Amino acid sequence: DSAPVSNFLRTIIDNDLKAGRYQDRQWALPPSPAEVRRAGAPDPARIRTRFPPEPNGYLHIGHAKSICLNFGLARDYQGICHLRFDDTNPEKEEDEYVHAIIDMVRWLGFDWTQGGTEHCFYASDYFETLYRFAEALVEAGYAYVDEQSADDMRATRGTLTEPGTNSPWRDRPAAESLALLRDMRDGKFPDGRMALRARIDMASPNINLRDPVLYRIRHATHHRTGDTWCIYPMYSWAHPVEDALEGITHSICTLEFEDQRPFYDWILERLAELGQLAAPLPRQHEFARLHLSYVVTSKRKLRQLVFDGHVQGWDDPRMPTLAGLRRRGYTPGAIRLFCERLGVSKADSRIDYSILEAALRDDLDPVAARAVAVLDPVKLIITNFPENHEEPCSAPLNPHEPDGARRSFPFTRELWIERDDFREDPPKKYFRLFPGNLVRLKYGYVVRCTGCVKNEQGEIVEVHAEYLPETRSGTPGADSVKVKGTVTWVSAAHAVPAEIRLYDRLFTEPHPDSGDRDFLQAINPESCRIVNAWLEPGTQAEPGATWQFERLGYFVADREDSTPERPVINRAVTLRDTWA
Ligand code: ATP
Ligand code: MG
Ligand code: MG
Repeated sequence: DSAPVSNFLRTIIDNDLKAGRYQDRQWALPPSPAEVRRAGAPDPARIRTRFPPEPNGYLHIGHAKSICLNFGLARDYQGICHLRFDDTNPEKEEDEYVHAIIDMVRWLGFDWTQGGTEHCFYASDYFETLYRFAEALVEAGYAYVDEQSADDMRATRGTLTEPGTNSPWRDRPAAESLALLRDMRDGKFPDGRMALRARIDMASPNINLRDPVLYRIRHATHHRTGDTWCIYPMYSWAHPVEDALEGITHSICTLEFEDQRPFYDWILERLAELGQLAAPLPRQHEFARLHLSYVVTSKRKLRQLVFDGHVQGWDDPRMPTLAGLRRRGYTPGAIRLFCERLGVSKADSRIDYSILEAALRDDLDPVAARAVAVLDPVKLIITNFPENHEEPCSAPLNPHEPDGARRSFPFTRELWIERDDFREDPPKKYFRLFPGNLVRLKYGYVVRCTGCVKNEQGEIVEVHAEYLPETRSGTPGADSVKVKGTVTWVSAAHAVPAEIRLYDRLFTEPHPDSGDRDFLQAINPESCRIVNAWLEPGTQAEPGATWQFERLGYFVADREDSTPERPVINRAVTLRDTWA
């Protein structure tokens, strides 16, 4: 990886470090969980970031941008990035997602262990602390229990131009709120009966400061805390506290949280004032999220694709999830390269899908083994080549290393070639096989096409040609005959049969979820085509193996379905950009 390119976040970090902002900091005050104090132990002067997914789905390519950013900054500044599960919505969260997220962050090449300590946390680790902090806020008059219904709260919040209206419960005595909060926690009320709200300013021009809800009642079983709690903290309340408890220095999030920043700061400043947290407090910084064309990344929509059966699962190779991209043949290096090329800024922009594909080609080209595959096969008979004879041919495993390892395969009388490499009536500028034309069979001989054989339906079943014996590649006479076309082939008797899945974009429109239209209307009905193909002999289709199939693109043996006996291979990306 090359030297990091500067960006506004690096400038902020440089300035914070120069100012010695983290020099003498104390770690989160007691009573923070023991893990947190341990996490805080190594070098306090360093920066600390976090990647905070909600375990309610699989990670997608947008998350990769945040992962590369947060873990990348921590790496470059010798700090640490925490993995934190923001599990404050029990209904949608599951262990399955926790495991999948851990798997994918590791796969991308990032790690959250330092000095033998795992810096992996859960918002639910802090439920007890959060609750204690909430009581402190209530006692200080910074929060109150509101008995308005959710609808009334919404209705009295005001608008961008109209201030909100104070709740009739806003000025109730702190002791009354405290007793009700305890009753809420103890399960004495049904869902939605009341809520704990911050007391800030119902007339604030920033609607997020109009007494936002801190706790709501939810009688739901949590994937980690079970039925211990029936009140759950709102994300906007839990998040700043989690950051502070973990000693996060730079809390980096996407732009839509910009309006939440005043609340983030308000919470931390009040808790510091009440002696619950120590300076320096974390600061929130926003960057533009990734919008990739031909893709949806909203988790709600990804869930819909999976649960309504539009795709085969979260790791369907057409999905923009990291699990899907991995199965499709994307490498961690390609995704990191893509994120590096994106950079970070505060300006929203759409990124063309071709940029992601280019990163995969650039990552694989120098390293991918080459092989030949024939996807839409027709027989080519070399009529003047002896039967049962094998002429050994060879080719570099990777042309970037011409003196490196080679692969070898036999030339025989019966070959498979692509159906499209023969035309009875060639169009202009067609240089491949047609009656009378000379072409090179790559790594083999120059042949002259002599015609074809058709079946009763008029389909071409065999192409015929004669070889020129002196022209075998790598021999002195190889270049004695000049030809304009080159065709790939495999020996029919030696080729390995394989199922090849040719994936295309999942949506037919660049912005499937813009406007009011249902994004499902833009699903591409032809996003997967399956063909039976012939592969170069010796191709070992271990699950996860990748190749460049010459002239065709980059391919991967499917992680789930491929076996050495019955290869199932996915096309990851074509050789050239076909999106324009
Ligand atoms: P959704 O709204 O689809 O549920 P989310 O942003 O709520 O997605 P989280 O699991 O909460 O999903 O996201 C974890 C982190 O990943 C957040 O910090 C978020 O900012 C970041 N993230 C999510 N989507 C993108 C994106 N498209 N580009 C950059 N960062 C993203
Ligand atoms: Mg979220
Ligand atoms: Mg969300």
